[in-house]
Amino acid sequence: MNPKQVLNDPAFYSLQITIDAELAAKVRKKGCPSCGAKFHDGGFHRVARGCPKAVLEEYCWRTSLDCSGCRKRTMPPSVRFLHRRVWIAAVLALVSPHGSVMSCSWLTEHLEVSRRTVERWRKWWRNDFLTTPVWQTLRGQFCASPPCIRALPGSLLDRIAGNSAMQSLARFLEHLSPLSIPAVRA
Ligand SMILES: [Zn+2]
Repeated sequence: MNPKQVLNDPAFYSLQITIDAELAAKVRKKGCPSCGAKFHDGGFHRVARGCPKAVLEEYCWRTSLDCSGCRKRTMPPSVRFLHRRVWIAAVLALVSPHGSVMSCSWLTEHLEVSRRTVERWRKWWRNDFLTTPVWQTLRGQFCASPPCIRALPGSLLDRIAGNSAMQSLARFLEHLSPLSIPAVRA
C-alpha cells in the first residue's frame, strides 16, 4: 500500500464524503433518540488538517442533526474526523508504529505533523484505543489471529479487506467512525 498515493487522490476524499452522507442518513432516518421527533440538518466547519486544499471546503463541513422537537443535537458518525482532533482520521490511521509504512519523517516531511504529535498518536493506538468498544469489536472479529498490538494501526489495517488500498483504508475508517462522536472517547 502506498499511503501517499491514497492521500493525494481526490477520489479518496469524495469517497469519505459519500460514506459520511450514508452514515448521517441512517441516523436521520431513526429520528431523535431522546424524543423521536424529526431532525433538521445542521453542521459546522471543522479544522481538517491533512486534507488537500482543492477539496477542503466540502470536506471540512461536519454534519450535525438538530432535533425539531427537543432541540438536542445528535452527531452522526464520521469517517473524516476523530472526536476533536484537528488532523483528519485518515492521517491518524496511517501513522506507522515504528516508521516502516508511513514513518515519522514521512508525516513530518509531507504533512508537517510534528514529531511530538506522531509520538502521541502512536501512544494513543497502543493504549487508549485498546479501551474503546471499536477495538473490542475488531479484536472479536479477528480472534483466531489477533493483530499485533505493538504494530497498530498498520496491523489492523492490513486485515481489512478491500478491492484497493483506498477501499481498505475507507473501510478501516468506517470501523473507527464511532470514535468520531464526542460520547465515545477518541
Ligand atoms: Zn428530540
